[in-house]
Amino acid sequence: MANAIDDLASAFAKLPGIGPRQARRFVYHLLAAPASERAALAKAVGELGAAVRQCPECLRFANGSGPVCNYCADRSRDDAELMLVEKDQDLAAVERAGTWRGRYFVLGGVLTLSGKGAIREKELLKRIEKGLADSGQTALKEVVLALSATSEGEHTADRVRELLSPYRDRIRVSALGRGLSTGSELEYSDAETVRAALRNRHES
Ligand SMILES: [Zn+2]
Repeated sequence: MANAIDDLASAFAKLPGIGPRQARRFVYHLLAAPASERAALAKAVGELGAAVRQCPECLRFANGSGPVCNYCADRSRDDAELMLVEKDQDLAAVERAGTWRGRYFVLGGVLTLSGKGAIREKELLKRIEKGLADSGQTALKEVVLALSATSEGEHTADRVRELLSPYRDRIRVSALGRGLSTGSELEYSDAETVRAALRNRHES
């Protein structure tokens, strides 16, 4: 017979930043909690797949039933400006800062110096081509690299610049300015820091 405690502990241990001991602590917390709390958690996890989907345009995960997410559907946003972020949480940090009115694309990861990790290269190129296929006001003009100020962020930016090199005659590529100090992750940056980094963005 399956061991329910071990099974749930190993499921928790797969979550980012959770080790086996902490995973076990979660399990015993749930065992001591009322059955209704366990049921609510199980329901919330089960509903994630049904209520949330990946936007086909920016590739972020979002609630809703429209063809694209609310940011991609928002006609007041500027199609000429596209920001690239590593992950959904970074996009949320930029939204909290409240000054970016362009579009987004979620790379879905970073590349490490040791050659690990992956980003959505094919999808990014498709998105760039789509942006360039538009003409006039809505044509893509600037790509902003909003990556963390870490070695992985730098390495990922290098690869993205390489991917974008055939388009450089039509697209300006910029990166977040300082304000975001070395080693800092976008996700954990406060709104004022993100605003300053955006204001001070420079050709990259
Ligand atoms: Zn979207």
